[in-house]
Amino acid sequence: MNPFNINNIIRPNVKAMKAYSSARDEFQDINDNYIFLDANENPFPSPYNRYPDPQQRALKQVLSDKHGVGKEQLVLGNGSDEVLDLLFRAFCNPGIDNVIGISPSYGMYQVLANLNDVEYRKSLLKPEVFSLDVNDILSKVDEQTKLIFLCSPNNPTGQFLDEKDIELLLKSFNGLVVVDEAYIDFGNRDSWNKRLNLYPNLVVIQTLSKAYGLAGLRLGILFANEEVISILNKIKPPYNINQFTQDFAQKCIIDKTYNESLINLLSKERVFLFELLLEVDFVKKVYPSDSNFILIKVDNANKRYQQLIEKGIVIRNRTNDDLCENFLRITVGTEEENQKLIQTLKTI
Ligand SMILES: *Cc1c(COP(=O)(O)O)cnc(C)c1O
Repeated sequence: MNPFNINNIIRPNVKAMKAYSSARDEFQDINDNYIFLDANENPFPSPYNRYPDPQQRALKQVLSDKHGVGKEQLVLGNGSDEVLDLLFRAFCNPGIDNVIGISPSYGMYQVLANLNDVEYRKSLLKPEVFSLDVNDILSKVDEQTKLIFLCSPNNPTGQFLDEKDIELLLKSFNGLVVVDEAYIDFGNRDSWNKRLNLYPNLVVIQTLSKAYGLAGLRLGILFANEEVISILNKIKPPYNINQFTQDFAQKCIIDKTYNESLINLLSKERVFLFELLLEVDFVKKVYPSDSNFILIKVDNANKRYQQLIEKGIVIRNRTNDDLCENFLRITVGTEEENQKLIQTLKTI
């Protein structure tokens, strides 16, 4: 195969376009004592009367320090969903190109493919062990394949994908390999963002929605090499990260102890929940987890799901996903919530 070349995968219209230049792009020095009459903002002070920094420089500095990557290796989005959508818009020609995703996995990749009129090719994981079938993935690649979506730890199966398999894909495929690490903080492996310099076609995605407990804030982080990032920056909406999010996220990322104690607590609860789930008689199997949820196989998923709802507990029924017949996915809650869940499971 040819080596990776960004010019072979960028959409022609994106390559040709110029980014919208906002008032705040043209004049960035917002801290100085200038009179700003350039952006049609309301001059009367409030915490949010000014447009936010379109390049999120202060927040990116904090992220760059935390992850040991350059600021030019980051794009931020209104949740991971937005940065995932940017990848489709930058690299996939509607009605022509295709992407490959694994199954079962996170549903948004396929939704975004459909929305962007891009063919979504599904490669099944190996049953029960839920590892990649690298040969199957590579057999689905053709000239029009632009992106491969991996999710590690994978949702809903809960475990890390094999690093050797991911490495093989990075080396054999000359489009972008996207590794979604929404659950990375719950396991004990390094992020792929440590290896950006080894692979020009690697894209890593993280979020503040899970380990940071900030799903309502909407902040997704995309890591990649500068060439990829500059294209995504060109097409992103200029003010996509609002000022409150930029300020608040910085505080939360800097406050390591809060974040670490949350993760430790949930990891302990996960161990406890895992053990107790094994004691429930209609639970046939409990899968090991590197994330903040546990996948279980039961006798009858539809029935057990419904019974739990009647007792006021909502979990996720995955029985209609590929390879997931009679599977339920349970998010790790507080100690009290988990106790209540187990008590309820033992009485129904
Ligand atoms: C929850 C989750 C996300 C988070 O999406 P946001 O838009 O950042 O909230 C991303 N990927 C996967 C696999 C998830 O499970």
